[in-house]
Amino acid sequence: MRKNIVAGNWKMNNDLSQTEALLSALTNQTKTSNAEVMVAPTFPNLYQAFNVLKNTGIEVIAQNMHFAENGAYTGEVSASILKSVGVQTVILGHSERREYFNETDELLAKKVDAALANDMRVIFCFGEELADRKSGNEEAVVESQIKNALFHLEPSAFENIILAYEPVWAIGTGETASPEQAQDMHAFIRKTLADKYGTDIADSVSILYGGSVKPANAQEIFSKPDVDGGLIGGASLKAEDFFAIVNAF
Ligand code: 13P
Repeated sequence: MRKNIVAGNWKMNNDLSQTEALLSALTNQTKTSNAEVMVAPTFPNLYQAFNVLKNTGIEVIAQNMHFAENGAYTGEVSASILKSVGVQTVILGHSERREYFNETDELLAKKVDAALANDMRVIFCFGEELADRKSGNEEAVVESQIKNALFHLEPSAFENIILAYEPVWAIGTGETASPEQAQDMHAFIRKTLADKYGTDIADSVSILYGGSVKPANAQEIFSKPDVDGGLIGGASLKAEDFFAIVNAF
């Protein structure tokens, strides 16, 4: 009943012509799985992406947004501006936003509220650092990230929330959580949700894994019962690799 989703986070890669080449390559791929497919280009390339992909079934999503409505926030982009170019889903809480832009759980709670108030879907990212895992604190860290940013929400809000567990030590490092590590954490996340909101909601929320997912390891990770898809960085920049992952379901 919950959806399988594979989303490509292009991060700060690809100028306009590179974006056009990747978009064009994506339109030549064939999906053989039941996964929902999303890609997140940079802000200046969203409109172009939306135009090229609009009849392909590939959803164009944003990597970030500000919590305020419109106004004096130089350099920022609001939910309503994103929606005006066709964006319905936004990634929030990525570890790179937390690390380099000081995004805290409190700030992310506001961003989540703003996205939901604008009828957008949220891919909410969280995950422990290597030191947390080495000290056995990974579950406590993940639990507090989820509680602090999401547990003020009404149960119905979870219709529009997708979770993405991205252990920081596995992002862009080539080191992937083992399928068992991913499954264990995803089961813990689902239990954390169930304890607060009940099993119906916990069982309906898609939980994606992110961190060095590649064509070679996607199938085994996605085969785990609580892993409902992936948030893909590096491997989403090549259309063939990305669709090999999409089709790993
Ligand atoms: P990589 O797939 O490059 O490790 O990045 C994962 C990620 O951060 C997706 O948001």
